[in-house]
Amino acid sequence: MKEIIIISGKGGTGKTSLTGAFAALAENPVLADCDVDAADLHLILKPKILETHDFSGGKQARIEPDKCTGCATCEEVCRFGAIRRIPAKDDISPPFFAVDPVACEGCGVCAWFCIPKAVQFEDALNGHWFVSETRFGCLVHAKLGVAEENSGKLVTLVRNRAKQIAKERNCPYLLVDGSPGIGCPVIASLTGADLVVIVTEPTVSGEHDLARVADLAKHFGIPVAVCVNKADINPGMADRIRVNAEARGLSFAGTVPYDKAVTAAQVAQLTIVEHDRGELGKAVRKVWERVTALADGKDTK
Ligand code: SF4
Ligand code: SF4
Repeated sequence: MKEIIIISGKGGTGKTSLTGAFAALAENPVLADCDVDAADLHLILKPKILETHDFSGGKQARIEPDKCTGCATCEEVCRFGAIRRIPAKDDISPPFFAVDPVACEGCGVCAWFCIPKAVQFEDALNGHWFVSETRFGCLVHAKLGVAEENSGKLVTLVRNRAKQIAKERNCPYLLVDGSPGIGCPVIASLTGADLVVIVTEPTVSGEHDLARVADLAKHFGIPVAVCVNKADINPGMADRIRVNAEARGLSFAGTVPYDKAVTAAQVAQLTIVEHDRGELGKAVRKVWERVTALADGKDTK
């Protein structure tokens, strides 16, 4: 089984549209949406959810009102302003205290200082992850709760489960829609992969973002293939990206033209290759052929 991660230096480069197209072109793949901050592969693949699991990325405090004496120590020690004071209805009784779950960072200091042990320090529910079936194969994906931050832990969980399923089903390819950028989630997306496909655009910022993410992949010793999306918007820059990528020892997977059909495909909840049998579909097929040749070690250029 070969694991191919599709990433980009920033969001909005067409990474997910390409991942969806690769899913349609690969035979019997397993798919993982590790772009958990903006998971949208499911919009194209329309998964049927088979399993739903809770995701806990850390701890969270909760005050038990029956045990709380209203001493206000937790309010004093919480550096994140996550303890809410609720005044009593009369002037004699002490105020009530409650934890704001959005502001609580789960540091545990309030629980440590609460003498009557009124603060419970529990696993936080930060989101859910799912195992689904799609028309192309199994998809493992996730949904973070409101105001929850992306975490490498959830990315690793999604990726590991997808990897396990790919092995159980003897699938030739695991296709991972990775997180954009160069932070913890993208590192969790790409470590140990067989090939990283970096999708970029022919702009100065696209070239810059590509260099940063390519350095990251290089640091982890993962082979890189570069794909320039919307290449015909600036053919000179697209060519410069190819030349520079090859000079840096990266493989060039090819270019994809700008086409309104990409949006039309999204609206129709189809992949590009299902929706477009013309030049766009042809270009994507060519990129996929090169990507699989690189992942399978049949093309090392
Ligand atoms: S430290 Fe404990 S007892 Fe004091 S206000 Fe906070 S929760 Fe209540
Ligand atoms: S766990 Fe930390 S952040 Fe959360 S309420 Fe307690 S002191 Fe504040």
